[in-house]
Amino acid sequence: MINSNCALCNVLITKENNSKEHIIPNAIGGKKKILNFICVDCNNKSGNEWESDLTEQLSFLCTYFGIKRDRGNVQSHIVTTTAGDKLQLNANASMKIHEPKYNETKIDDGVEISISARTIKEAKNMLKGVKRKYPNLNLEELMKNAQEKSSYCNDTIQLKLSIGGHQAGRSIVKSALALAVESGINPKSCEHAIEYLLQENGSPCFGYYYDKDPLLNRPEGVPLHCVFVKGNTQTRQLLGYIEFFGAFRIVTCLSSEYDGDEFSNCYAINPIEGEILDIKIELNISNSDIESIYNYEMYSSQAIEDAFNKVVSFHQSVSAKKEQERVIHEVITYAFKNCGAKEGEQLTGAQSQKLTKLIMERMQPYLTHIGSVHNFVSIG
Ligand SMILES: [Zn+2]
Repeated sequence: MINSNCALCNVLITKENNSKEHIIPNAIGGKKKILNFICVDCNNKSGNEWESDLTEQLSFLCTYFGIKRDRGNVQSHIVTTTAGDKLQLNANASMKIHEPKYNETKIDDGVEISISARTIKEAKNMLKGVKRKYPNLNLEELMKNAQEKSSYCNDTIQLKLSIGGHQAGRSIVKSALALAVESGINPKSCEHAIEYLLQENGSPCFGYYYDKDPLLNRPEGVPLHCVFVKGNTQTRQLLGYIEFFGAFRIVTCLSSEYDGDEFSNCYAINPIEGEILDIKIELNISNSDIESIYNYEMYSSQAIEDAFNKVVSFHQSVSAKKEQERVIHEVITYAFKNCGAKEGEQLTGAQSQKLTKLIMERMQPYLTHIGSVHNFVSIG
């Protein structure tokens, strides 16, 4: 069945105003589009108001997992560790200090200055500033001693591990509605969804659900997105289940007066690779469950944290292997370059001792780090 009217404003959908709407917003990695669902105006409006709010709430994770979108680049993101440090997280999950640091301490015979900068260029500029204050400084000598250093963040990162609010909430419900319409459901029969989406004070028809994992074949560690809809002839519910990054799990009841055939439909994707996943979902929820879900009784911040850390630790074990290869290559190149031997020559005893020492020294930060895994804790 093709729905010939816009599901939101009811205008007749024509060739001119038909829009390709992403079932899951493209900004968080969704690919599949649906036609004959909403008009261009409603697509733009809901994109600006609803999707942009959801995307903003998920932007840290989009950066962390390096989600690619059709338009626009992944932004870097400022995070705070439990130690209170601010770090800038980049698309490849590397981190930089958020701001340069300058420290001046008076000591007996003068002042001691320490500088941490994000790049050598920034350090140079900062030193120029210091020279204006202390003209006797020998800048060249100082820059020779400047070192590019990388270290590991072993702190826990604080993060708002929740999504919600009425703008993002409407985006989530609209995803389920889109898949229902794609499955042949008339949007007009989804009375709860329509009321919520169209009325400013419409009651929200969604809530977190963590009581039981509805995914029967959850792939280990995949930060998957999925949308699932199901029409139940017994309970007359038209239910939707939405999951983002394998961690945010939401149930919506689109209608309680479903009178069509029994059906279900699922769209699941690995947003990192863009690959479609074959996910089996079992969602059996009573009407009183739905009430509990909407009252946030089937959710705890611990449950989100657990689901989230499962996905994150798996992702880290994959990137840890890449990091190991990078470190070994870097350390060996450095040690050979600095052990005093010339290329192609046999190492002397002293040189090979130095080589070993350099390798051990350079490996140390990495070896200390590998036992630890970042964790994320919920704030707010
Ligand atoms: Zn419309």
